[in-house]
Amino acid sequence: METELITTNPTEILHNLLEKIRATSAMTMGYPAAKNIEFTELLPFLQYPLNNVGDPFIPSTYNVGSRELEKEVVAFFSNLFRAEEDNWWGYVTNGGSEGNLYGLYLARELYPKAIVYYSEATHYSVQKNLHLLNMPNIAIRAQDNGEIDYEDLEKTISINRQMPVIILANIGTTMTEARDDVGKMKTIFKHLAIQHHYIHVDGALSGSYAAFVDPRPSFDFADGADSIAISGHKFLGAPIPCGLVIAKKSHRDRIARSIDYIGSLDTTISGSRNGHTPLFLWYTITKLGIAGLKKRTEDCLAVAAYAFEKIKKLEPLAWKNPSTLTISFPKPSTEIVKKWQLASENNWAHIICMPGINNQLIDAFMNDLALSKKD
Ligand SMILES: *Cc1c(COP(=O)(O)O)cnc(C)c1O
Repeated sequence: METELITTNPTEILHNLLEKIRATSAMTMGYPAAKNIEFTELLPFLQYPLNNVGDPFIPSTYNVGSRELEKEVVAFFSNLFRAEEDNWWGYVTNGGSEGNLYGLYLARELYPKAIVYYSEATHYSVQKNLHLLNMPNIAIRAQDNGEIDYEDLEKTISINRQMPVIILANIGTTMTEARDDVGKMKTIFKHLAIQHHYIHVDGALSGSYAAFVDPRPSFDFADGADSIAISGHKFLGAPIPCGLVIAKKSHRDRIARSIDYIGSLDTTISGSRNGHTPLFLWYTITKLGIAGLKKRTEDCLAVAAYAFEKIKKLEPLAWKNPSTLTISFPKPSTEIVKKWQLASENNWAHIICMPGINNQLIDAFMNDLALSKKD
């Protein structure tokens, strides 16, 4: 029998883990995790049991938390997403999936008899959310680029036009970063005279920078969204998975329920809520500001353009949607997929040029890809 050396030294275990994380995090290209923000100033907060229990806008009797800053984060993105004055609300979630669950939950409470429509390119977690919420739903065809097929959407809605309509729109699909057009969805409602409708935007991947893209995609409250979810650990670079959901306040008021025990309103999915993750988001938006976030977006778009030019020479089938950070190409060798941690589906893989990925890293990746093509 092989004897395994068991080390009981926690310092050594942690040291080894840290080394492994350092090495592997330098080589991620296929998953949208930014990693270039320095958070050391926030380290002292790890000593405290922060908990933003309940609704961020209503003080709780438990007072050790960061709700003041959480509210600033919600206000910042409500403004960025052009919410109506005094008609916005939201909270920091555990990720994009929870934000989508929340948006769909609000929609169901408003329109219990509605049917949910979403494209077949939608993130896998949405199916699970619909199952949890027990909402009737219909998948709509996606175009080749991953964007929803508006003709199929209109036809399908028209067949069920007596029912209220809930649409889950993608601002950045997982595989191709395709963006559904919220404005076009509104036009369909008009055509079909649909009066009861709700659009939830899954902006987990690119909602956090869509406002800085030119031309600005049609995705926000001014365009017709009722709620928007984004992830905080993707483009925004939070080191702990988190996200943000913003909804019209009038919608959230419909479901608010006062809970005596915590002295707050039970408007969120979890009761106890992470008090640390709002700090990371607040820190990022405060340090970067609108100008910094815009530059962060432009820098990534430039790296993506550089990578696209390079990969086309090696892989003529490579393609990308305009103004996105995602490049799709036929799935490369297993070694490359493993080394660069690429996600793949139906024999296609992609790289996502998130903040932290620069031209040198792209060059290193392209070298590996070129070598693998030789043998
Ligand atoms: C990442 C992602 C999700 C899920 O978000 P999490 O933050 O991982 O929970 C949902 N939809 C899309 C399009 C995503 O890219």
